[in-house]
Order: sequence, then structure tokens, then C-alpha cells
Amino acid sequence: MPDEKQAMTIAEMQRTVDEYIGQFKEGYFSPLALMARLTEEAGELAREVNHYYGEKPKRKDEAENTIDMELADCLFILVCFANSLNINLEKAFHAMMHKFNTRDKDRWTKIDTE
Ligand SMILES: [Mg+2]
Repeated sequence: MPDEKQAMTIAEMQRTVDEYIGQFKEGYFSPLALMARLTEEAGELAREVNHYYGEKPKRKDEAENTIDMELADCLFILVCFANSLNINLEKAFHAMMHKFNTRDKDRWTKIDTE
């Protein structure tokens, strides 16, 4: 397992999560439960974003979380989701970027680099 200060590939991330989940009899949640967990974590992320950038301050008794940690929670669930369905996230990520770089290549205004 790579140490926590080293850069990690998506494959290593998937392996790390699989080793972690593999310790427990419960294993991965079902796709529907993972979908619910992802929605929970997206809500927690939204709460932090609203706290830092929005109009809704936290109550004094609310836990101090960070956007970083909530993004990482979402990432963990996404990796669990992929692992539970035997999806290679690195391959899927490359396919997604290929789509952006081909189908959507003229969609956004390029920064003039000359
Ligand atoms: Mg969370």
C-alpha cells in the first residue's frame, strides 16, 4: 500500500479501498445503498459549501468539517461503487476525458496561449 504522502493512481486508490472493505464481512453495499450513501455525502458536501461560500452559517454546536473531507467522502463512495461493480475507474476516466476532448472540444472558450 502506498504511504499517504505519495501520489496515488486511481488503480491504487481502488486497491486501497478494496483492501479496506475486504477486512469486513459486510463487504460492499448494494448499488442502491451506495447511491443513497453518495447522496448523503453530496448533501454533507453541499452543507460545507453553503457554510463557507453561502448564506447559511453553521450553528455553534455543529461539527467543523471541511470541503476537503466531504469531497474525499464522496470519492470514497465513488470508488466503492466502482469496485463493487468491477468497474476500472482509470479506464472510465480516460473514456470520459476522450469524450470531452472530442465531442465537446469546441464547447468552451479556449484561453489564448499565444
Ligand atoms: Mg461526510
